Amino acid sequence: MQDKSDVYSFQTVRNENDIFVCIMVKDKDRKCKICKKSYQGRKNKVFCSVACKNYYHKHLRYASFKAAIRINEYLKRNHGILLEQLGKNKTQVKIYRNVLEDKKFRFKYHTHTAINSKGKIFHYVYDLAWMEFSDDELLIVRKR
Ligand SMILES: [Zn+2]
Repeated sequence: MQDKSDVYSFQTVRNENDIFVCIMVKDKDRKCKICKKSYQGRKNKVFCSVACKNYYHKHLRYASFKAAIRINEYLKRNHGILLEQLGKNKTQVKIYRNVLEDKKFRFKYHTHTAINSKGKIFHYVYDLAWMEFSDDELLIVRKR
């Protein structure tokens, strides 16, 4: 049974696999996100000490930095695959979707999208884009 006088809040803690997970805790037994020690203090305080706070922010920065590098690699690779299909001089080419799939093209990764006057969606990877021409065909275009 939950005591109505207890205040609950969500906290992210680091589990044994070094992954940050969200848990619900009673405010009176709050634990530090990093070292899991119980502590007291302001309601919005989430770390027991400055050392733990610094550790968390360093870790988080590093994680997002690694994610940014990975996304950049996917985009670069996608761009390379599109460029390979298009060649140096063509401004557009129609290909089968499975050509890109075979090259492990990551359809989720693009820099932006644009919709043309016919309602077709172009997924851009920098200056190149693909558009679903039909169920199994794609149009690859170069932005002029
Ligand atoms: Zn701590």
